[in-house]
Amino acid sequence: MAQRQEQEVARTEVTEVAPNILRMQLPIRMPGLGHVNMYALLDDRGAAVIDPGLPGPWTWQAIQDRLRQADLRPKDIHTVLITHSHPDHFGGAQRFVKEHGATVVAHRSFRFGLAKSIVENQPEVSLNDLEAQQDADAGRADDQEDRAGAHRHGHDHSHGGSDMGGWWGGPSPWGGAQPRPPLSRRLLYRVFHMLGRGMNVPEVTHPVEQGDLIDLAGREMFVLHTPGHTPDHFCLHDPEAGVFIAGDHVLPTITPHISGISSSEDPLLSFFYSLDRVGELPDIRQVLPAHGHPFTDLKGRAEDIKAHHYERLDRIFEISRHFGRPASVKEFSEQLFRPRSWGSMAESETYAHLEHLRHAGKAESHRDRQGVLFYQTG
Ligand SMILES: [Zn+2]
Ligand SMILES: [Zn+2]
Repeated sequence: MAQRQEQEVARTEVTEVAPNILRMQLPIRMPGLGHVNMYALLDDRGAAVIDPGLPGPWTWQAIQDRLRQADLRPKDIHTVLITHSHPDHFGGAQRFVKEHGATVVAHRSFRFGLAKSIVENQPEVSLNDLEAQQDADAGRADDQEDRAGAHRHGHDHSHGGSDMGGWWGGPSPWGGAQPRPPLSRRLLYRVFHMLGRGMNVPEVTHPVEQGDLIDLAGREMFVLHTPGHTPDHFCLHDPEAGVFIAGDHVLPTITPHISGISSSEDPLLSFFYSLDRVGELPDIRQVLPAHGHPFTDLKGRAEDIKAHHYERLDRIFEISRHFGRPASVKEFSEQLFRPRSWGSMAESETYAHLEHLRHAGKAESHRDRQGVLFYQTG
């Protein structure tokens, strides 16, 4: 499979993607993603930026380079907006705040989501998309190895499993023993953990909520609260220009990860509502995602993402019929995903879907004496 656009390495050039809105790609290396789009919204006072990348000097260097191309200096950035509490979206924020006194805008539930994303190291991309990427990477790595006659490339990356969404210790809500990840993963977790602790978490100076209006790029934009990928996710809508700033809620070709571990009882239902909410917006002419290229068909893409989850739900019905008895989250996940993907991330996605069916009255669950949850669909 060809590389997805969300996986492309960050390009250095700055492009105007809507009136007074510049796309600036910042480098990130996360499972399934190669760059994050920081958008600069120009106005009389300078600019606001949305989602200024991961923490660290590389990001800051890239930010300075992109701003310079637009004749902006870091001190011209009066506002930083953070669509949701994932580190690749808020990492650069603190620097603008500390050095230049920028205002920080995020949803009013921002901090809660943040604690979860750091503690649980929640991934960005659904497991299906990670599997597809691993297939593509494995193909490329093998090619390179054939040519180089060496075995230096990508083993961990392509064959190490997808258990990137694990958390450190502690029981899962669905019970059962958590698989111990391989050493390389545990070391990586430790790096993420230290990154999380050392990460300067920005103080939100302007919490926003559904329906708020913000002055950006010389016009007014509406806040849409879009929980699902995280509980604190929000998007921005400029009805006059038909511009929609999507964050990770609707990406052009990949499906965002929906974790079963959430402050929401049914995060998948929240996500469906949020997809419907943005799908109903009239006259959208430009969608600006946090990863990948701008696109136009917001409603169509929102429907595609829903269809992906409905297929998954159908599979769960089939699997349950096949078992013919109540089965654990682990058992369901091992039918849904390939062995190399088994683990906490697979179980977390599976749990989100099973809980959705239970809340809809289409599945029943009980816990055994060891505290393990079992589900059977009706
Ligand atoms: Zn995210
Ligand atoms: Zn993201």
